[in-house]
Amino acid sequence: MANQLLFIFQGNQLLVTNSESSPALPNRSFVDSIQSIILRDHQVGFYDHVLCRAIEVSDDYIPKAGYRFTGLRTLFGVFDEQLISLIGRALQIVEWDRSHQYCSKCGNENTRHEHELAKVCPSCSYRSYPRISPVVMGLIVRDNEILLARSPHFAPGMYSAIAGFCEVGESLEMALHREIKEEVNVAVDNIQYYTSQSWPFPHSLMVAFTCRYVSGIIIPQPEEIEDAKWFNVDALPLLPHPVSVARKLIDYTVTNIKARYHALH
Ligand SMILES: [Zn+2]
Repeated sequence: MANQLLFIFQGNQLLVTNSESSPALPNRSFVDSIQSIILRDHQVGFYDHVLCRAIEVSDDYIPKAGYRFTGLRTLFGVFDEQLISLIGRALQIVEWDRSHQYCSKCGNENTRHEHELAKVCPSCSYRSYPRISPVVMGLIVRDNEILLARSPHFAPGMYSAIAGFCEVGESLEMALHREIKEEVNVAVDNIQYYTSQSWPFPHSLMVAFTCRYVSGIIIPQPEEIEDAKWFNVDALPLLPHPVSVARKLIDYTVTNIKARYHALH
């Protein structure tokens, strides 16, 4: 039988081998040892032509010798981005499957759709799909400065771009203008899309933009923003982890600003 990679979850924790520096994922043969305690099992895609399965095991399962459970965030920078992205997909599918066992409209037990990633109610035909919540992120540029803010739950000294959930009825641009106005009281224009990233904590799609400062004096939103200020691109504070979309957005923008300034001065 062809090999498989197993993403085995207990809650939101993933099973890996014990090595701190180079943990590995269990493969096809491992499944025999957990067959009796599998709660759910989905095929989630391929990694390097190897089929990947998302499996959830019951809470009372204790990893056998040589294995441990760990949070996905601890594997950033350890596994490559394609694998992290697949595990993130697996985590969201398992969580969705767990929380959509019953129809939210009539309460009957759902069944799996044959071809789509969907749950179908056999009684009222209502379909449920995995949820994706768009989050807009904006990095505001003013000459050779960028506006960064910190929320109270950030690591000490760390600053990042402005971000917030898109609300129903909003375009991404509308959400970005609103979030920036609410969080730091600034108006922007020239919104440019940069990139996006799935962020499975729990089911966000981060959509990152750069934008240009127009007007307004920074007033941090109480409760949400602990501090916000302009940073010269040559004197940046502690920034988010390099795999985060926030950091990629900041690095990309800072590189562009420096290149422009170098050309002009
Ligand atoms: Zn129903």
